[in-house]
Amino acid sequence: MTWSHWQVPPFITGVFFILGVLTLYWVSYNWLVSWAHVRRVRVKDDVINTWYGVIYMLVFVFSIQALLIGQGNAWQFMNFQLIAIIFCAYFLNIHVSYFFFFPVVLVYMLFDGSLGYWQSWAHAVTLMIFFTLLNVIRIKCHGRQQNLALYLGVVLPFWALLWLWMKLKYDFSWATYWHEWLYLVIFEILLYVYVSMLANDSELKLRLAQFASHDALTQTGNFAAYTAAIKDYFEDSQEHQQPLTMMMFDVDHFKAINDTYGHSIGDVVLREVAATVQTVLAANEGQIEFFRTGGEEFNLLFPGYTAPAAASVVNQVFQAVNHLEVHTAGTVIQVSISVGVSAVGTEDQSPMDLFNRVDRNLYHSKRNGRMRVTIA
Ligand code: GH3
Ligand code: MG
Ligand code: MG
Repeated sequence: MTWSHWQVPPFITGVFFILGVLTLYWVSYNWLVSWAHVRRVRVKDDVINTWYGVIYMLVFVFSIQALLIGQGNAWQFMNFQLIAIIFCAYFLNIHVSYFFFFPVVLVYMLFDGSLGYWQSWAHAVTLMIFFTLLNVIRIKCHGRQQNLALYLGVVLPFWALLWLWMKLKYDFSWATYWHEWLYLVIFEILLYVYVSMLANDSELKLRLAQFASHDALTQTGNFAAYTAAIKDYFEDSQEHQQPLTMMMFDVDHFKAINDTYGHSIGDVVLREVAATVQTVLAANEGQIEFFRTGGEEFNLLFPGYTAPAAASVVNQVFQAVNHLEVHTAGTVIQVSISVGVSAVGTEDQSPMDLFNRVDRNLYHSKRNGRMRVTIA
């Protein structure tokens, strides 16, 4: 075997070709997602998955067809194209309604010069029903084991039908027909196994990333996540003259709660404090980030907010936590917090300058009777 003579059966080359196309998608999608996260682009992973997945697969389907247009063997890439469609509909969880699918199919038929063939229309309609059905079975069934059986139960007859339209159009032999159908079955089982492996791998990475950036007790961002975020937001605020406000709070007399009720009840209180803040943030728009930066000390970053603009949310957080009653161990524990707030000023050289001012404000609240907010 040399670079110019591949002495391997075409089927093997085909398997690696298709796996290569899918792997390239996976790697480039992951790169795009981490790029968006690093840049703090406000776009959901699902949206990237949908748009990038659809564009990637359309480019793939159209570009390989461009090699065959107008030839008697224009069906030759059909298995690869079907796999791309199944990958989108079933494995990437991309749902494109048939009314969006329809114009794409029309453009494809125009591109392929097949608008005048009834077999191509039958093929297109079958494909749209197939695509819709794939989405239905994906949504209805979550258990992986039974999924494979159901998935094959739906796709096998559809492939037989899709290939039948092409046999009627191009009049190739029955041997070729069954041959192609069988290859597709083998490809699809391989695809199923391969994608499951990739999905397990990326789930593991997601869990590790979540673990590395979140506090295990309260599920807020941890100190490492805070350090990374404040560095980015501070740089952004310097470069683009964007406002940035920081709020820091510390639970009052928390040691007394631990000493009176025990450490595990103290943990429950911390969890409930964090959950209360999360509820307030969920009810407000805007990208406000929440971290646990110390034992009973928390930090909120308000990128794009001046101190007066952040005041309403600051006050909501303050009121919500001060009204929190933790019912546990047969008693009711009242919680209160002391708060420090400040915004980036022209004199700030580093995130530490902002942090120290907020910290001073927090301790001003502590020294002046606790359960109060100091903004300066
Ligand atoms: P102040 O009003 O001045 O803030 O008083 P305080 O008692 O809240 O402050 P202090 O710093 O004296 O005590 C904080 C306590 O928080 C001490 C520490 O044992 C406790 N703590 C730190 N992390 C945790 C944790 O994860 N769980 C529990 N239960 N307690 C914690
Ligand atoms: Mg405290
Ligand atoms: Mg403290």
